[in-house]
Amino acid sequence: MTSEMPKAYEPRSAEPRWYAFWEREGLFRASDDPEDTRTPYTIAIPPPNITGFLHMGHACRVTFEDVLIRYHRMLGRNALWVPGTDHAGIATQVVVERLLAREGKTRHEVGREAFTKRAWQWRQESGDRILEQLRVLGASCDWSRTRFTLDPELSNAVTEAFVRLFEEGLIYRDTRLISWCVSCRTALSDLEVENEENANGELFDFAYPIEGGGEIVVSTTRPETMLGDTAIAVHPDDPRYQKHIGKNVVHPFVDRRFPIIADAQLVDMKFGTGAVKVTPAHDPNDFATGKRHNLPQITVLALDGKMNDQAGDFAGLDRFAARKAVKEKLAALGLTRGEKPNPMVKPRCQRCNTVVEPMISTQWFCRMQPLAAPAIEAVQSGKTQLIPEHWQKTYFHWMRNIQDWCISRQLWWGHAIPAHYCAEGHITVARETPTKCGTCGKGELTPDPDVLDTWFSSALWPFSTLGWPKQTPDLARFYPTSDMETGSDILFFWVARMMMMGIHFMGAPPFSRILLSGMVTDERGLKMSKLKGNVIDPLDVIGGATLEQLIAKAEKGGAQGGVEYLKKTYAEGFPAYGADALRFTLLSYSPQTPKIALSMKRIEGYRNFCNKLWNAARYGLIALEQSGGAEQSGAVETTERPAAPKQLANRYILSRFAAAMQAAREGLDSYRLDEASGALYRFVWNELCDWYLELSKPLLAGEPGSEQVNETRATLAHVLEATMRALHPMTPFVTEEIWQRLPKPKGAPKSVMLARFPEAEVDGLSDGDAEREMTRLQAVIVAVRTMRAEHEVHPRVTLDVELRASDAASAAALEREASAVAALCNARVSVSQAGGEAPEDRALAVVEGVSVLVPLAQLVDPEKERERLERDIKKVEKDLAATEKKLGNASFVERAPEALVAEERGRLTELRATFERLSAALKKLKAS
Ligand SMILES: [Zn+2]
Ligand SMILES: [Zn+2]
Repeated sequence: MTSEMPKAYEPRSAEPRWYAFWEREGLFRASDDPEDTRTPYTIAIPPPNITGFLHMGHACRVTFEDVLIRYHRMLGRNALWVPGTDHAGIATQVVVERLLAREGKTRHEVGREAFTKRAWQWRQESGDRILEQLRVLGASCDWSRTRFTLDPELSNAVTEAFVRLFEEGLIYRDTRLISWCVSCRTALSDLEVENEENANGELFDFAYPIEGGGEIVVSTTRPETMLGDTAIAVHPDDPRYQKHIGKNVVHPFVDRRFPIIADAQLVDMKFGTGAVKVTPAHDPNDFATGKRHNLPQITVLALDGKMNDQAGDFAGLDRFAARKAVKEKLAALGLTRGEKPNPMVKPRCQRCNTVVEPMISTQWFCRMQPLAAPAIEAVQSGKTQLIPEHWQKTYFHWMRNIQDWCISRQLWWGHAIPAHYCAEGHITVARETPTKCGTCGKGELTPDPDVLDTWFSSALWPFSTLGWPKQTPDLARFYPTSDMETGSDILFFWVARMMMMGIHFMGAPPFSRILLSGMVTDERGLKMSKLKGNVIDPLDVIGGATLEQLIAKAEKGGAQGGVEYLKKTYAEGFPAYGADALRFTLLSYSPQTPKIALSMKRIEGYRNFCNKLWNAARYGLIALEQSGGAEQSGAVETTERPAAPKQLANRYILSRFAAAMQAAREGLDSYRLDEASGALYRFVWNELCDWYLELSKPLLAGEPGSEQVNETRATLAHVLEATMRALHPMTPFVTEEIWQRLPKPKGAPKSVMLARFPEAEVDGLSDGDAEREMTRLQAVIVAVRTMRAEHEVHPRVTLDVELRASDAASAAALEREASAVAALCNARVSVSQAGGEAPEDRALAVVEGVSVLVPLAQLVDPEKERERLERDIKKVEKDLAATEKKLGNASFVERAPEALVAEERGRLTELRATFERLSAALKKLKAS
């Protein structure tokens, strides 16, 4: 059977082969059998945008989610991972507009209908490219349940949700000041606006002439909006302006006069001149002031950011050109009173970075406070848990201060708002297209031209994907879902809104745990960006890329100056590390860290780990084959765990395996995937490969069919097979490739992904005695190996090692393990229970109370031996001092548990004896 196992593991051939197998066999499919009583475990994937390409952030999400899904599937749960994509309103519209631009057309020229048709055509052609890419990572999504937010069923869910919220008075239409992107030409929600702190700005002072004489100087950061001013405000307590309150000023450019008002809420006496202009149509604070004082709202900007007819001579100018022109004209009139730099906050469109314009506009809003209250309660009561916990504070703060959500967008790609208007302006909101006005009964209705914010449909995702509003079996079985794993950056955009909608429409929070992970950055901790040229494409890491390919890609993406970094950091390009290596690397960072600074060295390390696993399995198969004897011809009868193994190595590895499973389960259950993967890594590398496989060699060399050989064969086969099961959720491909070749228990399923995750520590498996005994054996072996290494003894030279135990019991134990020492150290080993001084022609090491003696003549160099002894003595002296100090501390001796004090005393005695023995050996060596 080993002839089938090549020397090296080849992820490039194994990964696509096994993925195709899993998919062909339908292994990702969750059961919809009504008889299936398994507890469901459900994750709704954060739907990537249809415009998207796989990036490291996706790779990280998908890895974490796939590990959870595979783990719970292996625990015997009916696991469902719902995949799908988001129609991505603005992003898709931009892509299609770019296509049109190549043909020299704009969307307004082709018209809405043709544009939408074109967008669907693009969608058909580009398909679910990003979902194909998720497959490369090993994502075990139930593809038979793939959803798209613009699918008829999901669109139906959006209409239903809108109509119900409207009927409940939670959705309404209103005219108010909203955030407007003049470049995207749409309203934005508060969340889509990013505030640039400390942006360059200036404070500009100019004078308004007062009717009847005099002037009042105002300070402003946006002079062009003075064309829409409808008042000047001062503080009611400001002595400088008492005499002016109630007077009118005269606008210098347009035929308008307006009052000087007193307003304590708006005006800060210390800011600028203490007098401010009020532009209710273009500033949120002024808007509120205008409401308080019944001021007219004069809009001077058009939706494209140019000044409109209200701006008089400035009409048609872009807002920034208008700023300059207004300042010049004020200067020409002698009204300028000074300017100075003024760092300020500038709101920018999250998508296109354009400075956002506050505009008065009629939009649809969703009332959030009534929806937020139960969503706050769900987290407060622990029905839904936020991990890491510190996000709770942010969540509560945002939810308690939540503002109504502007949900209408002036786009063409998205869910139509199910509202119609009659000639009288009455609104009819209905599930089906209405034929007459719900208020006056008139026909000829006009549909609302807007679409809904993309996040409106995403908010319904956990239940719309399961069939809502229809009461489907899937909805009954899989809602609420189990875990929501996503980036902390969309906690409010998405997670909080799913919480609100889920509770509102389904009566229960949509998930029991929210796992918020951080951002993947380059190894310097810098955000990956095309401009910086530091983007690491997961597909390059998996499939390999030369440095030339990496540079070409960065340059195509418009990288500026990032190429040097690439040359320096990835001089060799990427070999094909495989998906498993990338997954294990992503898992090795704490999922709770805000930044995952992806290191290629780590990826390399985990690629080596996959190879180590492969080599361990290969050794195991060969060893099983060769130790089987003629009749068994290598076949292993069973991979059940041996009930009561006698050999120390077997007892030890089963005990350590149980401990590793305990740690792995704890990590997986508590979303510490780093701890789970770390425990398995250490088990495989330090315990299984470094020790057990070595120790199994002399055991398997015994008489075929003997108890010792049979027991070791069973242990080796069991541990290898079960280790593949434990690692499968993390490294699915290499474990499947190996598992399929290993001996398996009777009735094993067709894939490791359907096998059971190994049990955690169970009765009788944890074996403290074996672990302690192994610690001593390992120390002895390391001591002999160290002597060999330090004296540069050729590996083929057999040493004569004498082990002296301090008591009969340990002598007997050492006797049992002598053959292991002999095999692992190339030595002839004798054991005695002799005290007294070491003969002077021997080198001596004392470990765990055992004296390890080797004839000096075999070690050649007495000088090196002297150095080693001196070093060992120093170490013992240090340990002695520490132990003496501890026991000299009265409070320790009085307060510590008796057993602990006794242990320290025993240690002191042992250290003193060791010190004596080493010192004596050194003395003799010096004398000789
Ligand atoms: Zn924009
Ligand atoms: Zn009407």
